[in-house]
Amino acid sequence: MHHFTDRGGRLFAEDVDLSALAADVGTPVYVYSEATLRRHFRVFADAFAETETLVAYSVKANSNIAVLKVLADEGAGADVVSAGELHRAMKAGIALKRIVFSGVGKTRDEIAAALDAGILQFNVESAPELHLINDVAAAAGARAPIALRVNPDVAAGGHEKISTGKKEDKFGVPWSAARALYAEARALDGVAVKGVDVHIGSQIDDLAPFEAAFSKVASLINDLRADGCEIDTLDLGGGLGIPYGEGAIPPHPDDYAAMIKRVTAPLDVKLIFEPGRMIAGNAGVLLSRVVYVKEGEEKRFLIIDAGMNDLVRPAMYDAHHDIRPVAARTGDKVPYDVVGPVCESSDRFAKDRPLEPMQAGDLVAVMSAGAYGAVQSSQYNTRALVPEVLVRGDQYAVIRRRPTFDDMVSLEAAPDWL
Ligand SMILES: *Cc1c(COP(=O)(O)O)cnc(C)c1O
Repeated sequence: MHHFTDRGGRLFAEDVDLSALAADVGTPVYVYSEATLRRHFRVFADAFAETETLVAYSVKANSNIAVLKVLADEGAGADVVSAGELHRAMKAGIALKRIVFSGVGKTRDEIAAALDAGILQFNVESAPELHLINDVAAAAGARAPIALRVNPDVAAGGHEKISTGKKEDKFGVPWSAARALYAEARALDGVAVKGVDVHIGSQIDDLAPFEAAFSKVASLINDLRADGCEIDTLDLGGGLGIPYGEGAIPPHPDDYAAMIKRVTAPLDVKLIFEPGRMIAGNAGVLLSRVVYVKEGEEKRFLIIDAGMNDLVRPAMYDAHHDIRPVAARTGDKVPYDVVGPVCESSDRFAKDRPLEPMQAGDLVAVMSAGAYGAVQSSQYNTRALVPEVLVRGDQYAVIRRRPTFDDMVSLEAAPDWL
């Protein structure tokens, strides 16, 4: 459930009229609902209330410092995948002992920064990474707390570009190598084995692949313990899907939690989760204004002022986003291709989407854009990075301002010889 609602034919974010917000801040703009962020976090955390659990929000889904502060205030930890995300999490006040570090390509400098900060756990994705962490920690006279991210070879994820738990994916330690790598890890002086980690993909709308993966991991933990390895934490990753207005309705966190309790109760481990999309996805919309309605020979195009550089999900993952007029329009629906101004044919938000007849100047809200939206935005076509706004009740604040053209070129320099 989210707090973007229709009030008498006008779309509101909590108690803020989105037309008024757009007139004030300009478009395109991302708008987030603080109440929705908090609500989603609580629904997830409450589902595991009786179990010792850390909910480490996946920072890459939406890494704005204000969003992280809202979640820190709810008691969230953070799952980071770069030193930059670690910097953000620390800046937002997320407790270091609630931060886990994931990702296949952690560099020496990133490992050193996280070790120095004193994070809870490194989720290690390969043998060479394990040895690099060991080297960095041993040189500092420390022991790095680690879990191995294992690849359970389970197919999952709404799109091949977001599946991460099959053996042909780059993620995690191959299933057949996991037990031996744990034995290797235990012999190292610079690491302390804490647990097991798994993350099988994103936008998963079915409990079956989760259950298949988690059951395999549970049996691995039993094997590891039989080998004499202490396992205290079990990180089950993120990946729970959200409703995008089309396609399957993903499981409710309560059902997800019931399944997990059934599978993991005998293990007596502290659970860690890394949800991203489930917290932020439906807490944000991308607000955009219609620039032109263009009648093509075979198509009617709604050309809006947001582009694929602002929200890349439709172009990159063929993702569906509902598109709503911000002020209700009348008349029979007609099909529109909703496109942006970027000079790429893939700059399209929707194909043949039935909408009430729209006019230049009308506002639309691209729904469910709170996760993997602003974080993937770019300045392609030298379009200003899209700003972000946070709403609380009837107030709102700009939490990332729109850069000026001078801001945009300020990191560039011509060499002396020009
Ligand atoms: C992306 C990612 C997540 C978050 O996935 P969601 O689908 O947004 O919940 C969690 N853990 C890891 C390791 C990830 O790469």
